[in-house]
Amino acid sequence: MRATVMFGAGNVRIEAVPDARLIETTDALVVVTRAAICGSDLWPYKTMEHSETGRRMGHEAVGVVETVGADVRTLKVGDVVVMPFAYSDGTCIFCHEGLHTSCIHGGFFGAGDVNGAQAEAVRVPQADGTLVVLPAGKDDALMPSLLTLSDVMATGHHAAVAAEVGPGRTAAVVGDGAVGLCGVIAARRLGAEQIILLGRHPNRIALAREFGATDVVSERGDKAVERVRELTDGFGVHSVLECVGLEQSMLTALSIARPGGAVGRVGVPQDETMPASRPAFYNNVTVSGGPAPARAYIDELLPDVLEGRIEPGRVFDRVVRLDEVPDGYRAMNEREAIKVLIGF
Ligand SMILES: [Zn+2]
Repeated sequence: MRATVMFGAGNVRIEAVPDARLIETTDALVVVTRAAICGSDLWPYKTMEHSETGRRMGHEAVGVVETVGADVRTLKVGDVVVMPFAYSDGTCIFCHEGLHTSCIHGGFFGAGDVNGAQAEAVRVPQADGTLVVLPAGKDDALMPSLLTLSDVMATGHHAAVAAEVGPGRTAAVVGDGAVGLCGVIAARRLGAEQIILLGRHPNRIALAREFGATDVVSERGDKAVERVRELTDGFGVHSVLECVGLEQSMLTALSIARPGGAVGRVGVPQDETMPASRPAFYNNVTVSGGPAPARAYIDELLPDVLEGRIEPGRVFDRVVRLDEVPDGYRAMNEREAIKVLIGF
């Protein structure tokens, strides 16, 4: 079969690889019908050291179950499923707490010996706990939004939950990438009365406004902090969704939280240390977040997607075939595309 393999920074290729197959009796084999390129795939695209064997990319997919292992109970051949970016058993202590990304039998697609989903097929470990079966007969128009439940919409929602967004509260979203835009959807869905997007790309800003952003701040650094304060009676916002992961974006996030506010961070931190520790301490700012337990959130978000109350699939502004994936990486890296959908 064909799959996306990254061999080093800027070097991603479609290669012929051995067919995906069941290994454990709890596995399912899924034929991928739609996958995506993630903002987090761009970090290795920018920095990965050369590797002879390469790394199998991709962790977002919708597909059809082709085979199930002997111990799989809840899935059957032909089921249309959405695959969260982490696999999990659904039964351990952390899964019961809704923190499936910490599952003691879990892990991430495209890491270790579990291959990525930017491929014709993918082996899904812990299939019963991991995969969510979609209702039959859903039309293709809904598929991009259903695909976002794999990662970006769940991650935007996690940022909002970690930032304690709620009715009557003010929120700011740092970052106008696909996760930030989904964070706007999530903040509105959870009832924020003011949603300030920090971003500077006109097409992304326009989409954010349609998703519910009430204000836009395009300045950076101290100027951005000043602008957010002006928009919030001088205090800053209750909830900050940090959707980038750089030192500067985290510094901005912590600086625009009002005393007693919360920062929910979902951008993978690119630094070991956190800036503005002392002001955050004196302002009693809560810092929370991490990888989103997408599997837990799909149950909550799926009805809103199926009934059209939210349309996170609009973050996809380019569709490529599998053999065009390298150009998809280039387009996202050069910010020519917000997010790329891979159709098969
Ligand atoms: Zn578990």
